[in-house]
Amino acid sequence: MVPPTTTPGRAKQRRGEGQWALGYREPLNPNERSKKDDNPLNVRARIENIYARGGFASIDPGDLRGRFRWYGLYTQRKPGIDGGRTGALEPEELDDEYFMLRVRIDGGRLTTQQLALIGELSQTYARDTADITDRQNVQYHWIRIEDVPALWQRLEDAGLTTMEACGDSPRVVLGSPVAGISADEIIDGSPAIDEILERYIGDPRFANLPRKFKTSISGRQDTAHEIHDIAFVGVEHPEHGPGFDLWVGGGLSTNPMLAKRLGVWVPRDEVPAVWEGVISVFRDYGYRRLRHRARIKFLVADWGPEKFRQVLEDEFLGRKLIDGPAPETPARPIDHIGVHRQKDGLFYVGAAPVAGRVSGSILVEVAKAVERAGSNRVRLTPQQKLVVLDVAEAEVKGLQAALAELGLQTEPSPWRRGIMACTGIEFCKLAIVETKARAATLVDELESRLADITDGTTAPLAVHINGCPNSCARIQTADIGLKGQIVTDEAGNQVEGFQVHLGGGLGLDSGFGRKLRGHKVTATDLPDYVERVVRNFVAQKEEDERFAQ
Ligand code: SF4
Repeated sequence: MVPPTTTPGRAKQRRGEGQWALGYREPLNPNERSKKDDNPLNVRARIENIYARGGFASIDPGDLRGRFRWYGLYTQRKPGIDGGRTGALEPEELDDEYFMLRVRIDGGRLTTQQLALIGELSQTYARDTADITDRQNVQYHWIRIEDVPALWQRLEDAGLTTMEACGDSPRVVLGSPVAGISADEIIDGSPAIDEILERYIGDPRFANLPRKFKTSISGRQDTAHEIHDIAFVGVEHPEHGPGFDLWVGGGLSTNPMLAKRLGVWVPRDEVPAVWEGVISVFRDYGYRRLRHRARIKFLVADWGPEKFRQVLEDEFLGRKLIDGPAPETPARPIDHIGVHRQKDGLFYVGAAPVAGRVSGSILVEVAKAVERAGSNRVRLTPQQKLVVLDVAEAEVKGLQAALAELGLQTEPSPWRRGIMACTGIEFCKLAIVETKARAATLVDELESRLADITDGTTAPLAVHINGCPNSCARIQTADIGLKGQIVTDEAGNQVEGFQVHLGGGLGLDSGFGRKLRGHKVTATDLPDYVERVVRNFVAQKEEDERFAQ
């Protein structure tokens, strides 16, 4: 069949984007071919029955660099390859025989038993590594393929999974870390998250998407909803009451776009069906020819929200959605750090590891400290932080002290509070520069250099560090966003450094940081640079002026 170039009754389409709904069913690139040749979810059986027994050398390259992702597995970067060579090497030259394994933790929700297990598994199988990601996941490193089945078994016995943690699939669903307990939440999104997990994760109908599909469901605006493929944002409808406002088409990376409101109000029990409708639009109309145009944001940008809504309603839901109001934007971004009263009178306590870096041993000790404080619920946040729920007032101080002993401060400096960093060159094959260790050094430097202006009332300035032009640490929406690249220092040497993006934000300051031409800084000069920017801002700002204004 010759694929049509138009859909009935519509203007001429861009040719050849590889949309299934327009008849392009033959794979148009190797990724699409790989997914068509074999449902990526089938790789699990091969890992359990062949690769875990045969070792790294037995792994089929198509599985290794493709389908493994559907179970949260990426090869990590071979140690010792500097960032300047990243783009010059073939994938197999960068591949180590060890893996990153991502555990999806939808809504960031963990019991202390689950947290302790994650920590113990890290001690046993992952050389004590554990990073909290800005998508509420935990990532291990140094995983051997031989150990994966045992890891899965223990995770799944505890109700955890790595399924569709990566790949062209519905990734972890972000949710408010304080869902159900926050006094200023409009509605608790947790039941909708649970139903989506139950109905659709691991469903072969949604395991071959054009690219990844990121979801956020929150009754508070604390999950960076503007940069999701789909987001349900809590809103009060004047007639129908609490429900969700639907946003689609956000995403960062090299072509950042903010999500668009479709102008509809969705009651909580209809969220899963509407989610199914949107992901189906993406699956069938998403662009599959070019990987860099395959996210839903390109489709939404081309169609506009009105047409997207019409196709969703007419072709996928078979009914009209209810018009709805826009949610009110909070005055400041929400990050859950510190001690806050819950609506039931107990407290939640948010603590800040630096850029999400903890360890298995720390997580084991956190679980013990939380149980000593009389709670068994912990949450991971979209800011790479950790929150303990349900703490009685009398236990708060003791818990804060125990967390501080573990390096998790609950009253952190603005710099410790606002920093985020991606995985970077330590483990990521795409990285050009070091990130996590650099974030830790930068925080130490800023805490000592800027102690005179950090009086506890200074608003945290978000500094986000990426190891490459992708945006795993959301650099475009940071006050100071740093994109890793090789730069030339004053002596003419090629060294690690950053392209600077200034003044990005979400919420009231929704927008991308300005990338000033030639505005680059070497890694060595980074503390000087950030100090200078902060001092200038503090000296010149008007009362209550925000950095992004
Ligand atoms: Fe890797 Fe780049 Fe993502 Fe950092 S931003 S984790 S270096 S892909």
